[in-house]
Amino acid sequence: MFIKTEGVVLREVEINEADKLLEILSRDRGLLTVKARGVRRGRSPIKSACQLLTLSEFTLAEYGGKLTVQEAQSVEQFRLLRCSIELLSLGSYFAQAAGVVAQEDAPNPELLSLLCNALYALSHLQRQPALVKAAFELRLACLAGFAPELTACRRCGSPEPDRFDLSCGAASCAGCKTEESGIRMPLSAGMLQAMRFIVWCEPKKLFSFRLEEEALQALGSVTEAYLMTQLEHRFSTLDFYKSLLQYGETL
Ligand SMILES: [Zn+2]
Repeated sequence: MFIKTEGVVLREVEINEADKLLEILSRDRGLLTVKARGVRRGRSPIKSACQLLTLSEFTLAEYGGKLTVQEAQSVEQFRLLRCSIELLSLGSYFAQAAGVVAQEDAPNPELLSLLCNALYALSHLQRQPALVKAAFELRLACLAGFAPELTACRRCGSPEPDRFDLSCGAASCAGCKTEESGIRMPLSAGMLQAMRFIVWCEPKKLFSFRLEEEALQALGSVTEAYLMTQLEHRFSTLDFYKSLLQYGETL
């Protein structure tokens, strides 16, 4: 049996001299694990389409419950990501995080779009990596079922809350702490506005907001901590990305 589907390669593992095992976020089947035969050889016709962080049209052969790439054609390679170790590692973090949220046999076209749009914003639109990262993290949390409550303080109803509670995913005021409150992070007015935009905007506009540098850094700390708290997951790719940034700062 053959399956045709579009998808992004989230992860690749070399299994011998010629072959790789790919984890693909597909449009029609959700998360797939697929063998790519001969893809490590120089002349393989499917080599470029099976690269990490490439959106491709795959024809997969299914035999005994296992999938093998029969044909593959790249649709979008996000080439500029491959020119920068920083962007490539950030893209790899997006892929790893999307892989944690994705499920097998559960198509999630919104998740695939979010990932592709984030990679596109980094490579084609050249948006600030910190902005793309914050927007991706918060929107991914929403797709995973953890949309935060940002309309007003959860306790007193004030429209200008200045704290964000990571475990209950809600905004509140500094003075409105309750026994149920978990770790709360400070929220400036600009950060709150940006979070509301990220959560409520149309998918196409996700990366079009602006925020000054200091507030953007603070927003990134909140979105990153929120995603990790809700998914109960740490990301090796994120640790690597952050170590690159630190290394860059010391140069
Ligand atoms: Zn309050």
